[in-house]
Amino acid sequence: MQVTDILRAKGRDVMSLPADANILDAVVLLAAKRIGAVVVKDTSGGIAGILSERDVIRALATENVRALVLPVATYMTRAVATCTETDSVEALMEMMTQRRFRHVPVVDDASQLCGIVSIGDVVKAHVEETTREASNLREFIGAAG
Ligand code: AMP
Repeated sequence: MQVTDILRAKGRDVMSLPADANILDAVVLLAAKRIGAVVVKDTSGGIAGILSERDVIRALATENVRALVLPVATYMTRAVATCTETDSVEALMEMMTQRRFRHVPVVDDASQLCGIVSIGDVVKAHVEETTREASNLREFIGAAG
């Protein structure tokens, strides 16, 4: 199973904010869309960083409520790991496990953002694939016996 199969099922919308949006803007967006991370874009539309709920917690713990008016750029992660549609779901699981993050933006050949995959999407895809394989095996065994 590939990243493209996940995007086909969930869609390609990616919630994003400009780098000068503040942390309160991100909190409002994360809550409204029920998501855990937002991509931060630079002025030309490229990926400038990613801000997850963990970064918001870190900002609040460090700056108290002052964090809410700081630009998202202050607390986002700038070195964003991305994947492509042809990457396997297994490779994505390994990346998320080893590097301890739960969101991976998807980029196309021109490095343009074309989706985002969360650990929840990956787990769902993996469970579906495992269930399908088990069902195929049961059918195969049933037909053989
Ligand atoms: P998460 O597990 O996605 O809530 O993120 C945990 C931490 O990793 C936060 O500091 C995020 O900014 C960062 N992070 C999330 N996704 C990525 C990614 N794809 N590449 C690099 N850092 C990330």
